Amino acid sequence: MLTIPIYDTILLPDVTFYFKKEVIEGWEIDELSVGTEIAFALLRDDTDPKTATLADIYPIGVVAKIESVDNEGNVKVRTKDRINIIDFDRDSDGNVDAVVDVRPEIADLKTDELNDKFEKLKNKFLKFVQNYQWGLWARGFILQWKNINELACSMVGYFSISWEEKYEIVEVDRLSERYELIEHAAYSFMELADVAEGAELEQQQRNENIYREDAIKKQIEILQRELDEMHPENISDVRRFEKNIEESGMNETAKKEALKVLGRMKQEGQDGHEYGMLYDYLDFVTSLSWKQEEFVPIDLEKAEVVLDKEHYGLKKVKERIIQQLAVMALNKKQSGSILLFVGAPGTGKTSIGQSIADALGRKYVRISLGGVRDEAEIRGHRRTYIGAMPGRIMEGMKRSTVSNPVMVLDEVDKLVRDYGGDPSSALLEVLDPEQNSTFTDHYMNVPYDLSNVLFVCTANSTDTIPEPLLNRMEIIEFPGYTATEKFYIAKKHLIPKSMKAAGIKRKNLNITDTAIKKIVADYTMESGVRGLKKQIDTLMRYAAVQLVKGNNEKISVKPANLKEYLGRRAMNHDIIDKKSVPGVVTGLAWTMAGGEILFIETKLVKGNGKTVITGQLGDVMKESVEIAISLVKDLYPKETECMKEMDLHIHVPEGAVPKDGPSAGITLITALSSLVTGRSVNPSIAMTGEISLRGNVMPIGGLPEKLMAAVRAGVKTVFIPEKNVDDLEDVAEEVKKELKIVPVKKIKDVLSQVLMED
Ligand code: ADP
Repeated sequence: MLTIPIYDTILLPDVTFYFKKEVIEGWEIDELSVGTEIAFALLRDDTDPKTATLADIYPIGVVAKIESVDNEGNVKVRTKDRINIIDFDRDSDGNVDAVVDVRPEIADLKTDELNDKFEKLKNKFLKFVQNYQWGLWARGFILQWKNINELACSMVGYFSISWEEKYEIVEVDRLSERYELIEHAAYSFMELADVAEGAELEQQQRNENIYREDAIKKQIEILQRELDEMHPENISDVRRFEKNIEESGMNETAKKEALKVLGRMKQEGQDGHEYGMLYDYLDFVTSLSWKQEEFVPIDLEKAEVVLDKEHYGLKKVKERIIQQLAVMALNKKQSGSILLFVGAPGTGKTSIGQSIADALGRKYVRISLGGVRDEAEIRGHRRTYIGAMPGRIMEGMKRSTVSNPVMVLDEVDKLVRDYGGDPSSALLEVLDPEQNSTFTDHYMNVPYDLSNVLFVCTANSTDTIPEPLLNRMEIIEFPGYTATEKFYIAKKHLIPKSMKAAGIKRKNLNITDTAIKKIVADYTMESGVRGLKKQIDTLMRYAAVQLVKGNNEKISVKPANLKEYLGRRAMNHDIIDKKSVPGVVTGLAWTMAGGEILFIETKLVKGNGKTVITGQLGDVMKESVEIAISLVKDLYPKETECMKEMDLHIHVPEGAVPKDGPSAGITLITALSSLVTGRSVNPSIAMTGEISLRGNVMPIGGLPEKLMAAVRAGVKTVFIPEKNVDDLEDVAEEVKKELKIVPVKKIKDVLSQVLMED
């Protein structure tokens, strides 16, 4: 029997279908006449119909009868029985001839039952297609189905079941079984289609919403912009930050981070609990200046004038600053070496930083580092911490509002290293020109360029500054002021400023020069002028009260009425009325507050050769005492015999920095010598010098400060190590004039001159 291999579909009995005769190659036109029976064989997957053999087809096919052929070559066919394909052959023309026999079905369902079931399923399909736009078209198609087999054959291409499962519909012999297979596949198809449709609809809805949302947002943006223009004060946070980020000129990394944060802020919304944190971040980074400031040529003459205007004296300091500015001018750079101003409080270190800024026409910002013990205070907290903040450096940059301020880092010697990390190493990064162009504060998390900042550091002492940090800086000493300098500073700067602050007019108040001098001499005892400023402010407040009360039209402050204004004399110069006592000698020490005089006291009491030290303790002091005792025993063997039955008590007042301990060496020996010989030393004689075991006087530090302190305290004669004579160059003339300065090489030279004959 002529056989046509078919694929991608199935054929069942009692099904009408059409095909075009050209569709199948090798078709013998002549044999196509009404009534001809043709076998249809189902090809397995992936088989070429031209070369297919028996092995490539399913064993069960269907036989069909041609019902009509029209002029256009449309062939109408109606299937009859299922067949077993027993053999399968191809002739020379390529036509397939098969040996077949009929395969009967098991009719376990009555025709009525089957029809009922078919009608139910058909109706289900009709209902199903109603929901679709193409439903009407499909309806006509469905209405043509006459039985369950027609339904199955036309729908099988849409069923999502495997080819094997499709063939199973042909293969099963029982009608009931076939019906179940068809029904199952049909329902799955409809359900799946509905679900897919539902999903599609939802997706469509979602897309529509997005488009709608976009359109609305655009609309809002336009309206918002119009509103913003009308009411600039009400610009929304997000809009404002968008604008600020765009206009800030921040680097790419910073911009990316800022936009990321802005995105989160938008998502979070004003009620979100992170909103505040995100707001703070954006507020911070957008208030920083990201713009490179132009280099402004430096006018050295003008700079000199500015420096002189605000600060009296400080000749050397000003010279060094001008040198620095000259180097910057030549290099056309906004920064240069980092200057470290070292000196006692109130010597003008911080305020001259402001003058440098004024001289350069740049912004000034001051950051206090005193007591900073946490690295994060310099470099910021990571934003993952609650309450995270930027470090002081970046916070200072924000305050300055520019990218090139003059930044004074106050009290770099007061950084504390402990569990919070090492703040000085963080500071090193800030100051290192190799690294500071990409300084990354942990809070900001993006690099910021600090290379145009002119850093100026201040410290009371260099002792506690770690070496690597100290190496980065150029030390400029502020030795403190003489009485004359203080007089002028008071007269020219402190008094006019204080008067202005108190609202007192020049015509209402006059302070005589002698009164100013007396304030300096009797009411202050310091290297700087902080105490002096305080006294002057006190005086002004008192004067203000008098003027307001109307007690006086014009106040005149004279030495005699200082007591009325400032209270009792603050300082007493105990040197002058101090009695000479054997065992007590005036020494000179260097402290954080500058120079100071101190009395080293020694005493022998009944005992058994013990030594007790009080006041300033520590290894350095113990060593100095040991050296002194053994030297004194050498010098006065006879006089020190008695020390075996006595205890020695030494008191060295606290205050001096530990490093300065050894400079009390000659004072200690002199005191002990005075004690054992019973010869006293005039208290107006002071001394400073380290001592070697062989009795040589070694050089010491801080000579200018110590000599100034000596003058302040009323000392008349000072013994200094000969090796320090060169340092006298740094000592004000006025100080040198007031003192008899005696350089010495050996301790014997001191003793021979100071121990008074009874
Ligand atoms: P420091 O930083 O060394 O502790 P400041 O710079 O704070 O000292 O100075 C304290 C006060 O004394 C300031 O009011 C400052 O203007 C004033 N002052 C210090 N030195 C001078 C000076 N040479 N001329 C004028 N005023 C001075």
